[in-house]
Amino acid sequence: MHEKLEKQRRIAVQRLIEFGVIKRKIVADAMLRVPREEFIPETYRDSAYVDSPIPIGYGQTTSALHMVAWMCEATELKPGDKVLEIGGGCGYMAAVYAEIVAPRGSEVRGHVYTIEIIGELAKKAEETLRRLGYHDRVTVIHGDGTLGYREAAPYDAIIVTAAAPGAPKPLKEQLKIGGRLVIPIGSPYYTQELTLIRRIDEEKYEEVELGGCVFVPLRGKYGWTRD
Ligand code: SAH
Repeated sequence: MHEKLEKQRRIAVQRLIEFGVIKRKIVADAMLRVPREEFIPETYRDSAYVDSPIPIGYGQTTSALHMVAWMCEATELKPGDKVLEIGGGCGYMAAVYAEIVAPRGSEVRGHVYTIEIIGELAKKAEETLRRLGYHDRVTVIHGDGTLGYREAAPYDAIIVTAAAPGAPKPLKEQLKIGGRLVIPIGSPYYTQELTLIRRIDEEKYEEVELGGCVFVPLRGKYGWTRD
């Protein structure tokens, strides 16, 4: 079973390289190292490497593999980066970022902060990340990620994995100069535009639309519901 899934993981990553979604070896290596099957519910284990979103409970899904790669490439993640993720979900994507910013066995120690609004998911993600040895590189926070996480700001990259009405002001403010924010902007239940925002200086930001995508709705102060 284990070997079969590893083989499927290699094939999935190879395909993303061939399609041009994965552009850098460091992203391929990260995705080859993280066992997605360990983060998703037992019932979906056999489909761990199907390139589509997978339900993780509480009406939420973990993103498709091409979306994970796309986000890592769009934000130009590299060793040493400090990353903030909004929408921690099952923790899989945070583990992939961790393998890029603080590769196993390397002296370079970047860090990933991931915020999840559903307490049960945050707890489960934390447990899985701990079991797989990511706890020194990933910090899971339970709360409203639209407010960002000032305690560790500013960030080289901020990745929002839920559909937003617009880019939350606190997130733009918590970017380093030169930092990158990717966020799906658009309607909560249909498609959104994956948007890349780069901080040019203290006041100036540059915005580029990368293409269409579909995410679950962002909640919280700057999301679709004020909880
Ligand atoms: N990156 C995740 C994908 C999560 S799906 C993974 O690797 O599995 C989006 C997640 O965003 C859901 O778990 C949802 O509960 C969460 N979410 C929605 N609004 C949020 C907010 N304001 N702050 C933090 N998490 C939020």
